[in-house]
Amino acid sequence: MDIHTTPSAPEAPALAVLGLGHSYGAGPTAVRALDHVDLAFAPSTFTAVMGPSGSGKSTFLTCAGGLERPTNGTVVVAGQDLTALGEDDRTRARRERIGFVFQSFHLLPYLTAQQNVALPLRLAGRRVTAADRARIAALLDRVGLEGRHARLPGELSGGQQQRVAIARALATGPAVVLADEPTGALDSHTAGEVLALLRSCVDELAQTVVMVTHDPVAASYADRVVFLVDGRVAGSMEAPTAEAVSGQLAHLDQLVVPA
Ligand code: ADP
Ligand code: MG
Repeated sequence: MDIHTTPSAPEAPALAVLGLGHSYGAGPTAVRALDHVDLAFAPSTFTAVMGPSGSGKSTFLTCAGGLERPTNGTVVVAGQDLTALGEDDRTRARRERIGFVFQSFHLLPYLTAQQNVALPLRLAGRRVTAADRARIAALLDRVGLEGRHARLPGELSGGQQQRVAIARALATGPAVVLADEPTGALDSHTAGEVLALLRSCVDELAQTVVMVTHDPVAASYADRVVFLVDGRVAGSMEAPTAEAVSGQLAHLDQLVVPA
Protein backbone atom coordinates (compact mmCIF):
# COMPACT_ATOMS: atom_id res chain seq x y z
CA MET A 1 0.00 0.00 0.00
CA ASP A 2 1.22 3.48 -0.81
CA ILE A 3 1.47 5.25 2.56
CA HIS A 4 1.38 8.63 0.84
CA THR A 5 -2.09 8.00 -0.55
CA THR A 6 -4.95 8.92 1.72
CA PRO A 7 -8.56 8.64 0.61
CA SER A 8 -9.90 12.11 0.04
CA ALA A 9 -13.22 13.31 1.41
CA PRO A 10 -15.70 14.43 -1.26
CA GLU A 11 -15.14 18.05 -0.23
CA ALA A 12 -11.34 17.74 -0.37
CA PRO A 13 -9.78 20.13 -2.87
CA ALA A 14 -8.92 18.68 -6.26
CA LEU A 15 -5.64 20.57 -5.89
CA ALA A 16 -4.12 22.38 -2.93
CA VAL A 17 -0.75 24.05 -2.54
CA LEU A 18 0.60 25.11 0.82
CA GLY A 19 3.61 27.34 1.35
CA LEU A 20 4.56 26.79 -2.27
CA GLY A 21 7.88 28.42 -3.12
CA HIS A 22 10.23 28.03 -6.03
CA SER A 23 13.61 29.49 -6.91
CA TYR A 24 15.57 29.12 -10.13
CA GLY A 25 19.31 28.89 -9.56
CA ALA A 26 21.10 29.42 -6.28
CA GLY A 27 23.16 32.05 -4.49
CA PRO A 28 23.05 35.76 -5.25
CA THR A 29 21.73 35.25 -8.81
CA ALA A 30 18.79 33.03 -7.71
CA VAL A 31 15.36 34.12 -8.95
CA ARG A 32 12.52 33.68 -6.45
CA ALA A 33 9.70 32.86 -8.88
CA LEU A 34 7.13 31.77 -6.26
CA ASP A 35 7.04 32.80 -2.63
CA HIS A 36 4.75 31.15 -0.08
CA VAL A 37 1.66 30.59 -2.17
CA ASP A 38 -1.34 28.98 -0.41
CA LEU A 39 -4.24 28.08 -2.70
CA ALA A 40 -6.97 25.44 -2.84
CA PHE A 41 -9.07 24.50 -5.86
CA ALA A 42 -12.41 22.82 -5.11
CA PRO A 43 -13.65 20.02 -7.38
CA SER A 44 -15.72 21.11 -10.40
CA THR A 45 -14.47 24.68 -10.34
CA PHE A 46 -12.80 26.81 -13.01
CA THR A 47 -10.06 29.18 -11.79
CA ALA A 48 -8.07 31.68 -13.84
CA VAL A 49 -4.57 32.66 -12.69
CA MET A 50 -3.47 36.11 -13.83
CA GLY A 51 -0.66 38.52 -13.19
CA PRO A 52 2.03 40.56 -14.92
CA SER A 53 4.65 38.87 -17.07
CA GLY A 54 7.23 37.23 -14.80
CA SER A 55 4.87 37.03 -11.80
CA GLY A 56 5.28 33.25 -11.54
CA LYS A 57 2.17 31.96 -13.31
CA SER A 58 3.92 29.32 -15.41
CA THR A 59 6.13 28.32 -12.49
CA PHE A 60 2.99 27.84 -10.43
CA LEU A 61 1.49 25.46 -13.02
CA THR A 62 4.80 23.61 -13.43
CA CYS A 63 5.16 23.05 -9.67
CA ALA A 64 1.47 22.40 -8.98
CA GLY A 65 1.40 19.96 -11.88
CA GLY A 66 4.35 17.93 -10.64
CA LEU A 67 6.51 18.74 -13.67
CA GLU A 68 9.03 20.33 -11.33
CA ARG A 69 9.67 19.74 -7.63
CA PRO A 70 9.13 23.05 -5.81
CA THR A 71 11.90 24.43 -3.61
CA ASN A 72 9.43 24.78 -0.71
CA GLY A 73 5.96 23.73 0.25
CA THR A 74 3.55 20.95 -0.58
CA VAL A 75 1.32 20.11 -3.55
CA VAL A 76 -1.65 17.84 -2.81
CA VAL A 77 -3.64 16.44 -5.76
CA ALA A 78 -6.85 14.60 -4.84
CA GLY A 79 -5.44 13.82 -1.40
CA GLN A 80 -2.00 12.71 -2.61
CA ASP A 81 1.04 14.77 -1.59
CA LEU A 82 3.10 14.96 -4.80
CA THR A 83 6.00 16.61 -3.00
CA ALA A 84 6.43 13.56 -0.74
CA LEU A 85 7.05 11.31 -3.76
CA GLY A 86 10.28 10.42 -5.46
CA GLU A 87 10.78 11.36 -9.10
CA ASP A 88 9.33 8.15 -10.60
CA ASP A 89 6.26 8.06 -8.35
CA ARG A 90 5.66 11.75 -8.97
CA THR A 91 5.82 11.21 -12.73
CA ARG A 92 3.34 8.34 -12.42
CA ALA A 93 0.98 10.41 -10.23
CA ARG A 94 1.23 13.34 -12.64
CA ARG A 95 0.38 11.18 -15.65
CA GLU A 96 -2.66 9.68 -13.92
CA ARG A 97 -4.03 12.66 -12.01
CA ILE A 98 -3.15 15.80 -13.96
CA GLY A 99 -4.03 16.89 -17.48
CA PHE A 100 -2.07 19.64 -19.23
CA VAL A 101 -3.12 22.00 -22.01
CA PHE A 102 -0.55 24.34 -23.56
CA GLN A 103 -0.72 27.46 -25.71
CA SER A 104 0.97 25.70 -28.64
CA PHE A 105 -1.13 22.48 -28.36
CA HIS A 106 1.92 20.13 -28.08
CA LEU A 107 0.34 17.40 -30.20
CA LEU A 108 2.55 14.77 -31.82
CA PRO A 109 2.36 15.60 -35.55
CA TYR A 110 2.65 12.02 -36.83
CA LEU A 111 -0.17 10.66 -34.64
CA THR A 112 -3.88 11.01 -35.47
CA ALA A 113 -6.23 12.87 -33.13
CA GLN A 114 -7.36 9.52 -31.71
CA GLN A 115 -3.76 8.36 -31.18
CA ASN A 116 -2.79 11.66 -29.53
CA VAL A 117 -5.66 11.30 -27.07
CA ALA A 118 -4.68 7.68 -26.34
CA LEU A 119 -1.09 8.68 -25.57
CA PRO A 120 -1.59 9.49 -21.84
CA LEU A 121 -3.04 6.01 -21.32
CA ARG A 122 -0.03 4.43 -23.02
CA LEU A 123 2.37 6.61 -21.01
CA ALA A 124 0.55 5.58 -17.82
CA GLY A 125 1.36 1.99 -18.79
CA ARG A 126 -2.26 1.06 -19.48
CA ARG A 127 -3.08 -1.29 -22.31
CA VAL A 128 -5.48 0.58 -24.58
CA THR A 129 -8.53 -1.70 -24.65
CA ALA A 130 -11.55 -1.64 -26.94
CA ALA A 131 -13.43 0.07 -24.11
CA ASP A 132 -10.69 2.73 -23.90
CA ARG A 133 -10.90 3.29 -27.65
CA ALA A 134 -14.68 3.71 -27.42
CA ARG A 135 -14.26 6.17 -24.53
CA ILE A 136 -11.64 8.16 -26.49
CA ALA A 137 -13.93 8.28 -29.51
CA ALA A 138 -16.76 9.57 -27.30
CA LEU A 139 -14.39 12.15 -25.80
CA LEU A 140 -13.38 13.37 -29.28
CA ASP A 141 -17.06 13.67 -30.21
CA ARG A 142 -17.69 15.48 -26.92
CA VAL A 143 -15.06 18.15 -27.72
CA GLY A 144 -16.59 18.68 -31.17
CA LEU A 145 -14.40 16.55 -33.43
CA GLU A 146 -17.00 14.18 -34.89
CA GLY A 147 -15.69 12.66 -38.10
CA ARG A 148 -12.16 13.94 -37.54
CA HIS A 149 -10.72 11.26 -35.25
CA ALA A 150 -8.28 9.98 -37.89
CA ARG A 151 -6.95 13.40 -38.91
CA LEU A 152 -3.35 14.37 -38.25
CA PRO A 153 -2.81 17.64 -36.35
CA GLY A 154 -1.57 19.29 -39.56
CA GLU A 155 -4.96 18.57 -41.14
CA LEU A 156 -6.83 20.41 -38.35
CA SER A 157 -7.31 24.11 -37.56
CA GLY A 158 -5.75 25.65 -34.47
CA GLY A 159 -9.02 25.51 -32.57
CA GLN A 160 -9.52 21.87 -33.56
CA GLN A 161 -5.98 21.02 -32.47
CA GLN A 162 -6.64 22.61 -29.07
CA ARG A 163 -9.82 20.51 -28.82
CA VAL A 164 -7.69 17.40 -29.38
CA ALA A 165 -5.32 18.62 -26.66
CA ILE A 166 -8.25 19.13 -24.27
CA ALA A 167 -9.54 15.61 -25.01
CA ARG A 168 -6.01 14.31 -24.37
CA ALA A 169 -5.89 16.18 -21.05
CA LEU A 170 -9.18 14.51 -20.04
CA ALA A 171 -8.21 11.01 -21.20
CA THR A 172 -7.04 9.60 -17.86
CA GLY A 173 -9.93 11.17 -15.93
CA PRO A 174 -7.54 13.53 -14.10
CA ALA A 175 -8.26 15.25 -10.77
CA VAL A 176 -7.32 18.58 -12.31
CA VAL A 177 -6.62 20.08 -15.74
CA LEU A 178 -3.90 22.75 -15.83
CA ALA A 179 -3.91 25.05 -18.85
CA ASP A 180 -1.19 27.63 -19.62
CA GLU A 181 -2.56 30.32 -21.97
CA PRO A 182 -4.72 27.76 -23.84
CA THR A 183 -6.21 30.45 -26.10
CA GLY A 184 -3.01 32.45 -26.58
CA ALA A 185 -2.48 31.17 -30.14
CA LEU A 186 -6.13 31.44 -31.25
CA ASP A 187 -8.21 34.24 -32.77
CA SER A 188 -10.84 35.68 -30.44
CA HIS A 189 -13.79 33.78 -31.99
CA THR A 190 -12.00 30.41 -31.80
CA ALA A 191 -10.74 31.31 -28.31
CA GLY A 192 -14.35 31.83 -27.21
CA GLU A 193 -15.28 28.36 -28.48
CA VAL A 194 -12.36 26.73 -26.66
CA LEU A 195 -13.20 28.63 -23.44
CA ALA A 196 -16.84 27.54 -23.70
CA LEU A 197 -15.57 23.96 -24.05
CA LEU A 198 -13.41 24.28 -20.91
CA ARG A 199 -16.39 25.78 -19.09
CA SER A 200 -18.58 22.83 -20.15
CA CYS A 201 -15.91 20.38 -18.94
CA VAL A 202 -16.40 21.93 -15.49
CA ASP A 203 -20.20 22.23 -15.60
CA GLU A 204 -21.07 18.98 -17.38
CA LEU A 205 -18.10 16.65 -16.76
CA ALA A 206 -17.36 17.90 -13.20
CA GLN A 207 -13.74 18.58 -14.17
CA THR A 208 -11.56 21.00 -12.21
CA VAL A 209 -9.72 23.50 -14.40
CA VAL A 210 -6.94 25.94 -13.51
CA MET A 211 -6.03 28.23 -16.40
CA VAL A 212 -3.30 30.83 -16.73
CA THR A 213 -4.33 33.69 -19.00
CA HIS A 214 -3.45 37.29 -19.86
CA ASP A 215 -6.90 37.90 -21.28
CA PRO A 216 -9.66 39.41 -19.07
CA VAL A 217 -12.32 38.02 -21.44
CA ALA A 218 -10.86 34.51 -21.04
CA ALA A 219 -10.76 34.99 -17.25
CA SER A 220 -14.46 35.93 -17.25
CA TYR A 221 -15.31 32.30 -18.15
CA ALA A 222 -13.87 31.21 -14.77
CA ASP A 223 -15.58 31.07 -11.37
CA ARG A 224 -12.68 32.84 -9.71
CA VAL A 225 -9.53 34.73 -10.64
CA VAL A 226 -6.37 34.53 -8.54
CA PHE A 227 -3.87 37.34 -9.10
CA LEU A 228 -0.12 36.78 -8.71
CA VAL A 229 2.43 39.57 -8.33
CA ASP A 230 6.13 38.87 -7.77
CA GLY A 231 5.44 35.22 -6.99
CA ARG A 232 2.82 35.95 -4.31
CA VAL A 233 -0.96 35.89 -4.26
CA ALA A 234 -2.02 39.53 -4.54
CA GLY A 235 -5.78 38.98 -4.40
CA SER A 236 -8.66 37.08 -5.90
CA MET A 237 -12.03 37.81 -7.47
CA GLU A 238 -15.19 35.67 -7.51
CA ALA A 239 -17.60 35.69 -10.47
CA PRO A 240 -15.23 37.84 -12.54
CA THR A 241 -16.35 40.07 -15.38
CA ALA A 242 -13.89 41.14 -18.10
CA GLU A 243 -14.29 44.79 -17.02
CA ALA A 244 -13.61 44.11 -13.33
CA VAL A 245 -10.57 41.95 -14.22
CA SER A 246 -9.15 44.65 -16.53
CA GLY A 247 -9.48 47.21 -13.76
CA GLN A 248 -7.73 44.96 -11.26
CA LEU A 249 -4.88 44.18 -13.70
CA ALA A 250 -4.30 47.89 -14.35
CA HIS A 251 -4.09 48.39 -10.60
CA LEU A 252 -1.65 45.47 -10.19
CA ASP A 253 0.61 46.74 -12.99
CA GLN A 254 1.14 49.90 -10.93
CA LEU A 255 2.39 47.72 -8.06
CA VAL A 256 5.15 46.18 -10.19
CA VAL A 257 8.45 48.00 -9.95
CA PRO A 258 10.26 47.80 -13.31
CA ALA A 259 13.48 45.80 -12.97
P1 ADP B 1 4.97 34.16 -15.86
O1 ADP B 1 4.50 32.86 -16.41
O2 ADP B 1 4.02 34.82 -14.90
O3 ADP B 1 5.41 35.12 -16.94
P2 ADP B 1 7.26 32.63 -14.93
O4 ADP B 1 6.77 31.63 -13.97
O5 ADP B 1 7.58 32.17 -16.31
O6 ADP B 1 6.28 33.88 -14.97
O7 ADP B 1 8.58 33.30 -14.36
C1 ADP B 1 8.68 33.79 -13.02
C2 ADP B 1 10.09 34.29 -12.79
O8 ADP B 1 11.00 33.20 -12.86
C3 ADP B 1 10.59 35.29 -13.82
O9 ADP B 1 11.44 36.22 -13.17
C4 ADP B 1 11.35 34.44 -14.81
O10 ADP B 1 12.35 35.20 -15.45
C5 ADP B 1 11.96 33.39 -13.90
N1 ADP B 1 12.14 32.09 -14.57
C6 ADP B 1 11.17 31.34 -15.14
N2 ADP B 1 11.67 30.20 -15.65
C7 ADP B 1 13.00 30.22 -15.38
C8 ADP B 1 14.09 29.33 -15.63
N3 ADP B 1 13.91 28.16 -16.24
N4 ADP B 1 15.33 29.71 -15.21
C9 ADP B 1 15.53 30.89 -14.59
N5 ADP B 1 14.55 31.77 -14.31
C10 ADP B 1 13.30 31.46 -14.70
MG1 MG C 1 4.15 32.20 -18.36
